[in-house]
Amino acid sequence: MKRVAVIGGGWAGLAAAVEAVSLGATVTLFEMAPTLGGRARSLEGIEPVLDNGQHILIGAYTETLALMRRVGGDPDADLLRMPLRLRYPDRETLRLPPGPPTLAFLRGVLGCTAWSRRDRLRFLVTSSLWTMRGFRCDPALTVAELCAGLPRAVRDDLIDPLCVAALNTPAEQASAQVFLRVLKDALFSGPGSADLLLPRRGLSALLPTPTSAWLQSRGAEIRPRRVQRLEAAGRQWAIDGDAFDALIVACSSVEASRLTRDLAPHWSAAAGAFEFQPIVTIYLESAGSALPAPMVALRESSTAPAQFAFDLGQLGQQAGLFSLVVSGAAPWVARGLDITGAAALAQAQQHFHWATPPRIVRVLSEKRATFACTPNLRRPDPLVVPGIWAAGDYLAGPYPATLEGAVRSGLAAARSAMRQPLGGMSD
Ligand SMILES: Cc1cc2nc3c(=O)[nH]c(=O)nc-3n(C[C@H](O)[C@H](O)[C@H](O)COP(=O)(O)OP(=O)(O)OC[C@H]3O[C@@H](n4cnc5c(N)ncnc54)[C@H](O)[C@@H]3O)c2cc1C
Repeated sequence: MKRVAVIGGGWAGLAAAVEAVSLGATVTLFEMAPTLGGRARSLEGIEPVLDNGQHILIGAYTETLALMRRVGGDPDADLLRMPLRLRYPDRETLRLPPGPPTLAFLRGVLGCTAWSRRDRLRFLVTSSLWTMRGFRCDPALTVAELCAGLPRAVRDDLIDPLCVAALNTPAEQASAQVFLRVLKDALFSGPGSADLLLPRRGLSALLPTPTSAWLQSRGAEIRPRRVQRLEAAGRQWAIDGDAFDALIVACSSVEASRLTRDLAPHWSAAAGAFEFQPIVTIYLESAGSALPAPMVALRESSTAPAQFAFDLGQLGQQAGLFSLVVSGAAPWVARGLDITGAAALAQAQQHFHWATPPRIVRVLSEKRATFACTPNLRRPDPLVVPGIWAAGDYLAGPYPATLEGAVRSGLAAARSAMRQPLGGMSD
């Protein structure tokens, strides 16, 4: 049996470990944090359960949903599925009806009465051009440049919030090529692919906790340890003196760069070159209150940081608990978390009716939430050196930093590791 070490128990590492076990490996998973899940986990020892950041999945996350099922989860029960609907406190914009994707998009745009007839037609013409060009464009373009010809209302109501939510990068800096790929897979790849899937349970319960049980029941070992060094050991690789046939480095790009500096300097430099964008999540509490929908879009401005609000009561988590999300949050982090929290609270107070005065429960900031998804970004390939593969949301691929990108890269890394003949590191 092959011995495979997976370094990092985020969603990429968990996917890699499950796949390697399924393909017959003996797996050891190293995780330095007290809990599995990485950037998509619940905070430890807190009641009610709070995640380290509000996450949204979409119907196109096919591999993530399949992985949840594989480890015994039930995504149909654990996620609230809703057709894509961008609802602001004062009005509704795009709402996709069910049905075949192109028809649903056409009907959704034509039915969007928040936009003038002329704006709707201009948007349809532009999206037809994107379709005809296979959702490809000059890789140097930003989303703002790509969409400069679109009506202001379509950019404000749809493009800008979608861009910052999916790429965690403002439209003026975000890669148009990656954005088009997200649009293609979400809006045009199959019935339900654009559906929003909102967690009805904490993130840890969605995947990390069931995966931990699944792995351990199949003989995998989970070692709560930070890997410090990767060392060659004959035709194998060693961690802490323990030899493995293959390594899957599924930690953050920064840690992967550190671990591979001497073994693969070029790969390490590419992994170490990313810039990051933070996400701030503000949890609010207000007994007896409810938002008009489980998820409501908000307009950000220089005084209003949040782009989305979630009602965790309507999601079946905790009545009277709400989260506000600030993506692409670098300017707000620079202003300070107290100021950001207070501004988000004021924004929520202004837009929603509250049965009791809302108060801040927590302001959480993930400074390196995702890499900044900018044009012409050079993302490293999964093969580091023979015998060592990387997995993670930052690796070369069509997607921005997402759960689906992480899971897909983990599955791919495990398959490559298992295809390699024993002792393949020196080939
Ligand atoms: C606040 C926030 C909101 C987000 N919202 C969304 C969303 O709505 N939808 C979406 O799809 N994505 C979202 N994302 C992105 C998504 O969470 C990430 O793309 C995904 O979790 C990345 O998984 P990963 O396994 O690649 O990396 P990570 O989650 O970073 O996992 C790496 C793991 O490696 C461990 N590790 C690091 N170094 C070592 C070492 N030396 N030894 C042992 N262990 C080590 C770390 O502790 C960590 O557990 C969001 C992210 C954040 C932070």
